[in-house]
Amino acid sequence: MHLIDCPWCGPRDEAEFTYRGDATVARPAADGGIDAFYDYVYTRANPRGWHTEWWHHSGGCRQFVKVVRHTMTHAIAATGKASDTLPVPVEQAPAERVPGA
Ligand SMILES: [Zn+2]
Repeated sequence: MHLIDCPWCGPRDEAEFTYRGDATVARPAADGGIDAFYDYVYTRANPRGWHTEWWHHSGGCRQFVKVVRHTMTHAIAATGKASDTLPVPVEQAPAERVPGA
């Protein structure tokens, strides 16, 4: 069981939340062109590591929550309101493996 710390309700079971997508995507300007809107709607990165996401507290207060979650471990580093700027941890690259060492 994972807990997501809702800014309005406090820590709650993840079963109360619905994943709503990438929170790093910004809507292009109205005159941004069809390619910019195509990327806005359909093109997504599939990051490995820390990622800022939208979660909807659908089984609680029904507010959108911004969550910084690690896509490999599901660890949550920070949560906040939609207007919050959340710190994203810097992940160190794994040590390079030297053959024969
Ligand atoms: Zn809530």
